[in-house]
Amino acid sequence: PIRMKILNVWVDPVDMKGAVERVEHFVEQGTRPHCIFAVNPEKNFSVPRDRELHGHFAAADMLIPDGIGVVMAARLLYRARLGRVPGVELMEEICRLSARKGYRVFIYGASEEVSRRSAEVLQVRYPSLQIVGRSNGFVKEGEMPDLVNRINESQAQVLFLALGSPRQEKWFATHRDQLTTVRVCQGIGGTLDTIAG
Ligand code: UDP
Repeated sequence: PIRMKILNVWVDPVDMKGAVERVEHFVEQGTRPHCIFAVNPEKNFSVPRDRELHGHFAAADMLIPDGIGVVMAARLLYRARLGRVPGVELMEEICRLSARKGYRVFIYGASEEVSRRSAEVLQVRYPSLQIVGRSNGFVKEGEMPDLVNRINESQAQVLFLALGSPRQEKWFATHRDQLTTVRVCQGIGGTLDTIAG
């Protein structure tokens, strides 16, 4: 599939089914962490203005059409029959897949309260989901090696990064080489706040 450049940012012509298949491939066949970032109007604004973020997006393993704007633009510019793949829905599909396949999931980001509550909600929604660890998103720089160790020791294959953008993209770029078992990392922004209700 050819990555399309739309409104100053790239996006992959994936639908939900294709996105989930790629996640499965990343986990089953992968030997390194792969990242998934969401393309929405915020990113059309921020990516061209932040050199570092621009680089992280250019190097991303999957860029999902989260917003309707990129979907409409893809249709007009490329005659692409693209549909939305909302980040929150992909996260839910990854949880469903993980529950079915036994992938271990670690959740990092949001306030302690939201983190705890959203893990509980996900556990109820996907009873067989193995949430092997979680951390709030306010870990200090000096405590980062401990967090990375915790993630590695949990043997998580899936890591949800809920730090907001560009924090989550920058965290991934900085720490990807230290992650020994994670095969898929999805940047989910403020999604946990919504899940926690
Ligand atoms: N967040 C975090 N660590 C931080 C700052 C923010 O985990 O150092 C979380 C915050 O609790 C929220 C999410 O990141 O759940 C999105 O935060 P915010 O709305 O500030 O960022 P944006 O969505 O505008 O990128």
